[in-house]
Amino acid sequence: MLYYTRIEYIKIFKEEMMKNLFKKILLLMVFSASIAYAQVKSVTVPSHSVPKQPIIIQGPMPIEAQNLAARLENVREERTGNYIFYIGTLNDYPVIVAKTSKGMENTAAATAIAIERFKPAAVINQGTSGGHDKSLNVGDIVLGKRTFNAGNFKTLTKNEKEGSNPFEWLPMDVMASEGSAGENTDAEKVRYYEGNPMLLKAANAVKNQYKRGKVVEGTVASANFWNNEIDRINWLHEEFGSSVEEMEAASAALICEAYKVPFLTIRVLSNNKTNGGKYDPSTAKDCQDYVEKVVKEYIKMLEK
Ligand code: SAH
Repeated sequence: MLYYTRIEYIKIFKEEMMKNLFKKILLLMVFSASIAYAQVKSVTVPSHSVPKQPIIIQGPMPIEAQNLAARLENVREERTGNYIFYIGTLNDYPVIVAKTSKGMENTAAATAIAIERFKPAAVINQGTSGGHDKSLNVGDIVLGKRTFNAGNFKTLTKNEKEGSNPFEWLPMDVMASEGSAGENTDAEKVRYYEGNPMLLKAANAVKNQYKRGKVVEGTVASANFWNNEIDRINWLHEEFGSSVEEMEAASAALICEAYKVPFLTIRVLSNNKTNGGKYDPSTAKDCQDYVEKVVKEYIKMLEK
């Protein structure tokens, strides 16, 4: 038999107590840690898909942009220089309406800024224009199968007092080379920018929904020029095949080509000198209504 002295017994008893206490503390720690774990709040972030690239719709004047800007949802505005970007959505797809201001410089700058900032899937330049084709009436729409700069010319050489004859002017291609456009005879040509086939397809697909006039494919002539001389209009029409003139499309086309962004211009006739069609600014709104349909059609094509 093993007998403990009283002192030994107390010592063993204390040791046992300590062991038990230690076990209990350990259990309590594990238990409270598991409770703490169960109570941690969490949020799970799903993986992202590639962001949709916006479609940019340009309009030079407020009457050529505001109607479309008002159709956007979730809109916020960004202003810079002479430009306003209305950034929103159409049918849940990102769409930006840009008020570019009139003319070639404004449009080129607004296009480059928009491409750098927003990385668009496409740019549509739309608005009013003046007819060069007698068969087109105020309210008809021209889809820019081709767009060219109708202000890029090289004159013939004439001495003092020999006058100026615009009908002799040669087209000048500023993008022909990095060298002198004046000296280089290779630059004596007109540069047409083709409209993007998929954008044209979308525009043609909804053309029957446009009721104010007809929708045709044609050639858009751009320059900071307002031509009122019928002979000059006829010359541009015959030499270069222009359907309408306006002041923006070719500059946006050049920038879009530089950045490889699909481009189309859609231009309503607000006036036509060749058949007496008087200026009617209400055409700008009808054009935007049509462009909205084109964009929705294009979105459908992109999302297929
Ligand atoms: N009559 C209008 C003119 C606007 S200035 C006014 O006084 O408010 C020209 C703008 O209209 C440009 O943005 C241009 O793209 C377009 N435009 C319409 N018809 C034109 C035409 N016959 N020649 C040149 N630009 C024209």
